[in-house]
Amino acid sequence: EGKPTHSQTDVLIIGAGPSGLMAAYWMARCGVNARIIDNRDTKVFLGHADGLRARTLELFDSMGFQHRVLQEGSVSTEANIWVPGPQGKLVRQAQIDIFRVDESPFHNTRLNQGRIERFILDSIREHSDLDVERSVIADSLEYDEELGTDPNSYPITVKVRVLGEDDLNQPCGQEIDAESEVAGNEVNRNNLLPDDWADLVPRKKPQKTQVEVIKAKYLIGCDGAHSWTRKQLNIPVEGSNTDHIWGVIDVIPLSDFPDIRRVSVVNNAAGTILVIPREHGLVRFYVPVQTCEAGATDRFDRSRITPELIRERVRAIFAPFTFDFKECSWWTVYQVGQRIATQSTKDNRIFLAGDAVHTHSPKMGLGMNMSMQDGFNVGWKIALAVAGTLKPEILDTYASERHPLAEMLLDFDRHWSPMFTDQKPGVVDTKASDMALVAGKFEDFADGWKVFYPASSLVQKAEDNVEFAFARHMIPGERVRPVKLRNHADGGTRWTTSALESDGRFRILVLAGDIRNPMQKQRIETLSEALNGQTSSDISPLGRYLEIPGRFKSPIDVLTIHTSPWKEVEFFDFPEILRPFDPVNGWAYDKIWCDDACMFDRYCDGTAYEKWGVDRVLGALVVVRPDQYIGWVGELGDVEDLTQYLDGILVKKLPTDEVDEVL
Ligand code: FAD
Repeated sequence: EGKPTHSQTDVLIIGAGPSGLMAAYWMARCGVNARIIDNRDTKVFLGHADGLRARTLELFDSMGFQHRVLQEGSVSTEANIWVPGPQGKLVRQAQIDIFRVDESPFHNTRLNQGRIERFILDSIREHSDLDVERSVIADSLEYDEELGTDPNSYPITVKVRVLGEDDLNQPCGQEIDAESEVAGNEVNRNNLLPDDWADLVPRKKPQKTQVEVIKAKYLIGCDGAHSWTRKQLNIPVEGSNTDHIWGVIDVIPLSDFPDIRRVSVVNNAAGTILVIPREHGLVRFYVPVQTCEAGATDRFDRSRITPELIRERVRAIFAPFTFDFKECSWWTVYQVGQRIATQSTKDNRIFLAGDAVHTHSPKMGLGMNMSMQDGFNVGWKIALAVAGTLKPEILDTYASERHPLAEMLLDFDRHWSPMFTDQKPGVVDTKASDMALVAGKFEDFADGWKVFYPASSLVQKAEDNVEFAFARHMIPGERVRPVKLRNHADGGTRWTTSALESDGRFRILVLAGDIRNPMQKQRIETLSEALNGQTSSDISPLGRYLEIPGRFKSPIDVLTIHTSPWKEVEFFDFPEILRPFDPVNGWAYDKIWCDDACMFDRYCDGTAYEKWGVDRVLGALVVVRPDQYIGWVGELGDVEDLTQYLDGILVKKLPTDEVDEVL
């Protein structure tokens, strides 16, 4: 190792798994000076996590690449339960729908983690020069608490090793976290899509391992279940390994089991397996390979487990249905750990996200989803704080919003996991109803229909937590329920999940109601004057806050959604501030939307206001945060309140005269 080099970055992300990449997305979108390192020499390609919950897909839509998941993924609509019937032969005991028709445009979808990482990486590249630095290992961490109070300081020092050809302990690109061991998961051009080929070849390494000392303002530890960052900070984890060892195989099954292309739990005296159909004809099987006596897990010999052994276990449980495979795309063996870190931040300068905070059984299909949503939550906040747009104290809300969800996740796992391991005779009979009970209890949380973000400067709840009468289903701290709207200018339709783009800006939704009504039209004119800063109180929220440098002049965007029939009002009936003019790009035709039924698109049925609980004539005002959760709700006349809400979050520009003095 030669002499260390020294450098500085605003944000350092350790770990380029799902949570790290989501955080990096925000750095790219907001033009922040950031770096992301990973000790593996390539990205993940096959296997690993594969279950995407609908809420995650809604976020992908706001990031602009959900269509790629739809194209490649496999949708699951039903979960079936098989148990031995009266003659001991396997029978289908229950068929449970696992979709909700009206809740989201998207459904639970299966696609391997490697493809998800591909899409996020591509999106990052589309917006910036940020790229993952691979074969780089974080080695030591120092944190200067005194500097931590100054937002412009660099209190974090991380020494990293940039691995060279001389390093004898090269990390293996295909190794998954130490929870498991992998062998024989061949990756080559034949089993990858062409856009992953370039990543197959590890980057050229320097001849000699190099040491670099990086100073950073913020650090995000997205470094997985055995988080190095967490250990450096001495943050304890609570919980333990459970005593169940599982095998997982992704295969093209040769089987006469009728539900092989439907999610199924198959349970008989020989054990329980979980059948998960996936993309490209693959099916994943989760198979218990050994239940150890509590405390005896260290005696378990992982090397005994092979795809052949897993095949035999599936056969035994599937009998009398047949089971075999010729093609195995990926397999692994792991031990379930239910653990949670006691803290997810150090002084709001160092953060932990994803598996670094919580681990649990993968059978719920939640780890990757929760991890990505952690990265998404912390990412925009740090990006805007570094950009100088967001008040740094807002970073408090990462822990207050995400940590309770990590606790809920473990609670869910504690209820759900035994369903797959408990083989007591009585349990078989009640399996379906037990599962339905647990699934029902946690459904809103698991699918992401609710996130339960508590009141804070970012989330202004109604008094006593009751709903706002004028927007009953727009609940601060929850997501905007997706609806399909009609663009006023061209009549085309679009889901709100994509119209509310995750570009770093807060968005004021002007729910303008029916502007054919003269009094309502007048209210919209008055609102527009207030937004323009033309009222005596001069409280215009637009143009009041610092820009997102190099990206947007204002961190606030305005979208108008009205209820007048599409053909009965004109684009130019709306005040100019709601459809601003740009000398180069012309009028902002993408700013005015209509909640009107559309003949050619049955999802656009003119019921958005009903779904949001908003009066179709009187409308409402809503602020949506950059991560697509509702922050504030008011009436059209409440611009002063709205500005106060934003004042608590965003950094105001200095008055012009003060700017002159500073200059
Ligand atoms: P990771 O994906 O573990 O990424 C951490 C990264 O940090 C790694 O690339 C690692 O190499 C790197 N790193 C670690 N230490 C250092 C260091 N010192 N320096 C540099 N880099 C470092 N979840 C679901 O939602 N749905 C599923 O269906 C699902 N199925 C699963 C199936 C299996 C078999 C397993 C094992 C997991 C499954 N999960 C599932 C869980 C999911 O894989 C994890 O929750 C998710 O990958 C966590 O993402 P992460 O970014 O937090 O951590």
